[in-house]
Amino acid sequence: MEEGASFTEGDFYQAHFDARTYINNFYSSPQGHAKEKNFLSFVLGCLSSTFSTGRYKGQRLIEVGSGPTIHTIISACEYFQEIVLSDFADNNRQEIVKWLKNETGCFDWKPIIQHVCAIEGKSPSDVEVKLRQRVKEVLKCDVHLENPFHPHNLGPAECVITSLCLEAACKDLQTYRNALRGVAALVRPGGVLVMIGVLGQTFYYINETRFSCLHISKSSIENILEDLGFTVHDVNIYPAEDRENNTVSDFEAVLYLVALKSM
Ligand code: SAH
Repeated sequence: MEEGASFTEGDFYQAHFDARTYINNFYSSPQGHAKEKNFLSFVLGCLSSTFSTGRYKGQRLIEVGSGPTIHTIISACEYFQEIVLSDFADNNRQEIVKWLKNETGCFDWKPIIQHVCAIEGKSPSDVEVKLRQRVKEVLKCDVHLENPFHPHNLGPAECVITSLCLEAACKDLQTYRNALRGVAALVRPGGVLVMIGVLGQTFYYINETRFSCLHISKSSIENILEDLGFTVHDVNIYPAEDRENNTVSDFEAVLYLVALKSM
């Protein structure tokens, strides 16, 4: 079989990614999926340390490949006037919009919001209101396009976040490099890119459905970012615990990275 021929790409997400099951399985509590031991609490803690200092702020924050989630912007929402979330799959964007409109039956993000607010000494209900006010759009994106938001011309933004999207969307390193270039171009000079990624992972499951993942290393990601004119400012690694018993995915470590784009 041709290399990468069976990699699950955007169309597979559009057809088979069950948004609600994904958030139920991975985002019902701040601990995340029980088989992934502290993955989520690590990520939430890192995001909180990055944003709660107030060091990063500006007009616009863009997240590329949000899936059906909003957890990445809980700590950041106070510091950016307009937030744009995005994903390739319609289902995912609809799930976010349902939450933004507080529709009956929307996903309950309260346990996660409360966890972050407990760290930061904030009021969960105030933060929930702010999140709903500040997310202005939930757009379709495709990281394989030079401009992931084509035909919209967004940015440049003071902050771009991407979480677990590029390694899920890109079947090989060259594709990953091109995709990261498109995402990085959305960051304004002097702005910040926050990446959450998995290292050494080849698959993950949502119930019975298997999704592919590009096996990538920390140094590959750092090298690409340096080539794109970024300085890596902060890197945090969370090595997988009890990997033998993780039947949901085979990640070796979670990578949390903050990089600044040169002026
Ligand atoms: N950011 C979320 C979701 C990660 S799951 C989180 O941290 O949990 C991977 C996401 O990548 C899915 O939502 C999927 O729809 C999206 N994706 C897959 N291919 C894509 C593409 N070509 N462009 C943009 N997003 C894509």
